[in-house]
Amino acid sequence: MSKSKKTMTVEEKLDLTKFTTDQNYEHITINPEICKSKCTTYQCVYGCPASCYQFTESEEAPGPVTLDIVGCLECGTCKLVCPHGSVDWHYPKGGFGVEFKHS
Ligand code: SF4
Repeated sequence: MSKSKKTMTVEEKLDLTKFTTDQNYEHITINPEICKSKCTTYQCVYGCPASCYQFTESEEAPGPVTLDIVGCLECGTCKLVCPHGSVDWHYPKGGFGVEFKHS
């Protein structure tokens, strides 16, 4: 009799990841003026595996994309893919951020 190997989807694995969000410090920020004046391709929206970047829906928003760092996997993709230097990226302070040990 063979043992069946249980596989998990990416979403199931992400559900097991724990986040502790620092409400007083955003470890990633973007410059909406740079996004608005220079960007036409929005690699951050398409590259972020955690969907932290979304297109803005309001005309009154400061820029074409919004960033919500809750759920950030700290992979650094957004910093690397932005060709305009709009992303100011730092690790969260000690005790905050993502914990992968749960997955
Ligand atoms: Fe998304 Fe990775 Fe950037 Fe976090 S570091 S916002 S997970 S692309």
